[in-house]
Amino acid sequence: MSLIDGNKIAAELIAELKAEVAALPGRKPCIALVRVGDDPASVSYVTKKEKTSAEIGLTSRVILRPVSITQAELFALLDDLNADPSVDGILVQSPLPKHIDEVATFRRVSPDKDVDGFHTINLGKVAQEDETGFVACTPAGIMELLARSGTDLKGKHVVVLGRSLIVGKPVALLALQKKAGANGTVTICHSQTTNLAAIVRLADVLIAAIGRPEFVTADMIKPGAVVIDVGINRVPDMSRKSGYRLVGDVAFPSVSPLCSKITPVPGGVGPMTVAMLMKNTVKAHRLSALRST
Ligand code: NAP
Repeated sequence: MSLIDGNKIAAELIAELKAEVAALPGRKPCIALVRVGDDPASVSYVTKKEKTSAEIGLTSRVILRPVSITQAELFALLDDLNADPSVDGILVQSPLPKHIDEVATFRRVSPDKDVDGFHTINLGKVAQEDETGFVACTPAGIMELLARSGTDLKGKHVVVLGRSLIVGKPVALLALQKKAGANGTVTICHSQTTNLAAIVRLADVLIAAIGRPEFVTADMIKPGAVVIDVGINRVPDMSRKSGYRLVGDVAFPSVSPLCSKITPVPGGVGPMTVAMLMKNTVKAHRLSALRST
């Protein structure tokens, strides 16, 4: 079994982006990071994105708004950022407060600045294999991990657990694409799937994204499978100062000896998500420069 090291692969990608940005003439790519409220996880995600932007040489603009912001005020902010030529990418950190319509908010971001890849147009471009769009960061990161760890999906049975719009569906579409590294035969499973364990056992490549701690057990694994564990779940652990530890959707200790390759949690898919956000921002800057020539 070999471990797919997301920290190492993300660091490689960040180094490549840093060199690419250093060579760019004129204004550097700029990402606007919009955070509503003080949710601790959102604070830490936005701080991480800000730090990684600085490391690469991107400009970041952190915009903080109180949890009392109205939908109309948030839309007005996004309209301003959409119209601002010095901003290439816009990220609205989720979760948003309950009174804000998250999907409508993501759709309010101009598709040309939607570096999170959540806009309907960008998901449509993934389906149409139109490379001018932005692929959502976690699915894009999964494909990058597979490519950089030498896993070609051609002819392989890829089983995706989960059908969310931010992970399951887009990663299934990417694995299915008619291009080098993809060309997988894809099955998607969800909460209404019957005989799920039997389907998972057929997977040459398993991508687990359901948010259920250690759901995938050794008896569901075909020996030699490649396993990508997207899940990030907190389970109580009183032996730790934090009172919890992070586990994936896969029972790593028993599953890993059966796999040819597997991602750990943490340190697998997670670090790739921020790296791909940076990559999308550099792409947005390049596309914007092309539009204005
Ligand atoms: P989500 O929106 O809650 O979707 C979960 C999906 O899993 C749904 O399609 C659901 O089916 C399915 N599901 C839930 N329980 C199931 C079960 N018992 N059997 C089969 N399918 C089941 O979650 P998400 O946003 O895609 O995230 C999934 C996991 O990935 C979470 O742990 C999240 O924290 C993690 N994540 C990690 C990153 C990263 O950067 N590493 C990024 C995003 C998400 P239905 O559609 O039928 O309800």
